[in-house]
Amino acid sequence: MKKISMKKISRRQFIHGGAACIAAALTSQSIGIFEGNLCQAATGEDIRGRIFKGDAPPQLWKWSCEGFRYKKLSGGKVVCGICPNRCRLSPGDRSVCRSRVNMDGKLYSLTYGNPCAVHTDPIEKKPLFHFKPRTKAFSLATTGCNFRCLNCQNWEISQAKPHEVAAYTRELFPAEAIAAAQKSRAQSIAYTYSEPVTFFEYMLDTARLARDNGVYNLLISNAYINRTPLLELCKVLDGATLNLKSFDDRIYRKLNGGRLNPVLNTFKTLHDQNVHFELINLVVPGYTDKEDMIKAMCHWILENIGPDYPLHFLRFFPRYKLDRLPPTPVSTLTRYRELAIQQGIHYVYVGNVARHEGNNTYCHNCRQLLIERRGYMIPTYNLQKSHCRFCQTKIPGVWPASPEAALKPSELPS
Ligand code: SF4
Repeated sequence: MKKISMKKISRRQFIHGGAACIAAALTSQSIGIFEGNLCQAATGEDIRGRIFKGDAPPQLWKWSCEGFRYKKLSGGKVVCGICPNRCRLSPGDRSVCRSRVNMDGKLYSLTYGNPCAVHTDPIEKKPLFHFKPRTKAFSLATTGCNFRCLNCQNWEISQAKPHEVAAYTRELFPAEAIAAAQKSRAQSIAYTYSEPVTFFEYMLDTARLARDNGVYNLLISNAYINRTPLLELCKVLDGATLNLKSFDDRIYRKLNGGRLNPVLNTFKTLHDQNVHFELINLVVPGYTDKEDMIKAMCHWILENIGPDYPLHFLRFFPRYKLDRLPPTPVSTLTRYRELAIQQGIHYVYVGNVARHEGNNTYCHNCRQLLIERRGYMIPTYNLQKSHCRFCQTKIPGVWPASPEAALKPSELPS
């Protein structure tokens, strides 16, 4: 296997960093490793990824698994059916997402049962605000991403090839993952941090087993997945946090290396399949802080999936190749939240800003405070099962049977 040099970091630093930062800029926390002046001005070019010709390892390894969704073509070529990149690989090629290869005319994932980040997080960190508040999510990631976001929070794992992080991986096959989740008293497993779509086989097998064992499955993703594998996943999926990185295909191409329409299709499919999900929109200064675009985005949401899916506007902090941009002004996030509420979205949040009114949940009917959040603590909880305690309006989401379940002291960090 080829050796690729990486800056040396300790395993502890790596795991801490990978776990502390949610993929695709979900939090403002810094990984704190590989800090360097990597930044470059945005080029404005299409940055979609390319396949790595002839870059497959010389042989398969223990954590290789034949792909669940691919087609064999003539001449030993294969085409992957998991995401819209539809990588077409000749024997010996490596995929755009770096973790899948063509070996002798078959497609293999190289990360099955071999996560490089494993951690137990508060569910609010995903962020999932309408799903079993104050519970824990056992979180897993392998290397790999089908995007190339200039602002990636977790690029050390999302933009790495499996062997490059071999020193930091852990063997955790599906049954072991379920056992570890149960041991940590997590109610759910979150497939997260990097891009779980790229470890589809590992995710699906783990999710099926989790479902059989009464553990919830949560997908934290850029939503760049084809319909057929998504439908397969929906059968065992309980909730999702999905990125809507912008509402402009050109920005998707130059900031993220993806396309908008497939992402929108994912929202429609999950809506049709009755899977609870929450949308996140990271407001990147100079890229996605455009009021007209926010209006168009809200309009699309209302027209296509309705007003009830929570929408989180997240504050950007300088990271990775965009480390010279300023953080998003809080006033911009406040304005977008108000705008989205005015447009008709029922539950709109502001993330990565402590003690902002937009951290809380208010009933969309009577506007009473339903859930007050302070960090990962919930000092106020005014739902009765899934209804507002004041006006009995049904609140969308997956809620505990009793308020005590959300309010009781837990072992989560405050
Ligand atoms: S999952 Fe990976 S290999 Fe498959 S199409 Fe997407 S980028 Fe290519």
